[in-house]
Amino acid sequence: MSITVVGSVALDTVETPFGKKENALGGAATYFSTAASLYTQVQLVGVVGDDFPEQHVEFLRQRGVDLRGLQRKPGQTFHWAGKYEYDNLNNAQTLDTQLGLFATFDPQLPEDYRAADCVFLANIDPTLQLKVLEQVRQPKLKVLDSMNFWISSNKAALTEVISKVDVVLMNEGEALQYGESFSLAKKGEYGAALFADRTYFFAPAYPLETVKDPTGAGDTFAGGFLGYLSRAGDYSLAAMKRAVLHGSAMASFTIEDYSIDRLRTLTLGDVERRVEDFAHFTNVTGEAIFESLRLER
Ligand code: AMP
Repeated sequence: MSITVVGSVALDTVETPFGKKENALGGAATYFSTAASLYTQVQLVGVVGDDFPEQHVEFLRQRGVDLRGLQRKPGQTFHWAGKYEYDNLNNAQTLDTQLGLFATFDPQLPEDYRAADCVFLANIDPTLQLKVLEQVRQPKLKVLDSMNFWISSNKAALTEVISKVDVVLMNEGEALQYGESFSLAKKGEYGAALFADRTYFFAPAYPLETVKDPTGAGDTFAGGFLGYLSRAGDYSLAAMKRAVLHGSAMASFTIEDYSIDRLRTLTLGDVERRVEDFAHFTNVTGEAIFESLRLER
């Protein structure tokens, strides 16, 4: 069981109505790896500069993430600055994107990364996503995430990589525009929806009392979703529906604090308790359906 992920590893400056954090640990691949490593072996592909604090690398290492594919080079780490308004916490307003070393990054996958069961092409230049996809052998599931930044700057490569994956994970509008066989639409506080051949499955968002920072909700949704599938070793539609609940639970924890901070102490048991809550919220029959949601230990 393993997932190879490529995507941004970043330093983020984020402003929400509740406060501001400068140069906090961020990046799509960081959020994803932090979440998915609760379930399975994660193998990270990316690059950071000499401005990236060693304690962040150490955190991911302690999490059991395989970092042989994370290059450290002289230069600048990817930096994103964004802002959330009180009346639109679901959508970040990008203030600045500096690609830094990702502008010239050439991913070379260590041999055993190529044999991963799953590959997650997290948010980054679709040209890099393609390079990773070309190096993996025969993953059982290929999932892609992206955003409007890449739709406007590299649409051709994005369209090509989308045609090669099994699941597309984007915002609602983007996913509907691009979705092939499966697409997963993130609807922020309104939940997440899975569209497959003739099926539609929806999970509400967890009703939270505290929302501090929505950054990374999408990437940690992906971490819970793919982490669950990889650990269960089941990529059927039924498993994907259960995986959506894990993704939603994981995302709900992420936004309770800044950066990946809430996930530092999170356990798989905490996530499963929230998944059970979801089952309660939507269970009209009163039957005990929770056992079938539990992962093998
Ligand atoms: P999300 O799950 O959509 O909130 O993702 C947030 C993360 O995406 C932040 O930590 C950013 O560092 C990262 N990010 C923002 N813009 C981009 C971009 N254009 N390419 C790759 N990663 C990005």
